[in-house]
Amino acid sequence: MVAKIVRGWDGAPIGIVPAKGENPMLVFGYGPDGATCKDCVHFVRLRYHDQTYRKCNLRKITHGKASDHKAAWPACKRYEARTEAAQ
Ligand code: SF4
Repeated sequence: MVAKIVRGWDGAPIGIVPAKGENPMLVFGYGPDGATCKDCVHFVRLRYHDQTYRKCNLRKITHGKASDHKAAWPACKRYEARTEAAQ
């Protein structure tokens, strides 16, 4: 399944509904072509009890699997490229 692009009467895109298992942040739209979450400043790795959890810090972090975030997901419109200084 892929995100569904919702179009207005004139065929222009007006929104996105992510499919189950896709980046839920796609509701804001797609980011730059080819960009993935792993290169975004909002993608974080949190250490807890010797485990690493990947999260997007713009989503609600639930401390459960529900808010786990995949590095390879296509970037959303709120993507901000990670710079050397931000790593
Ligand atoms: S591109 Fe950045 S802001 Fe968007 S979902 Fe991925 S990590 Fe979050």
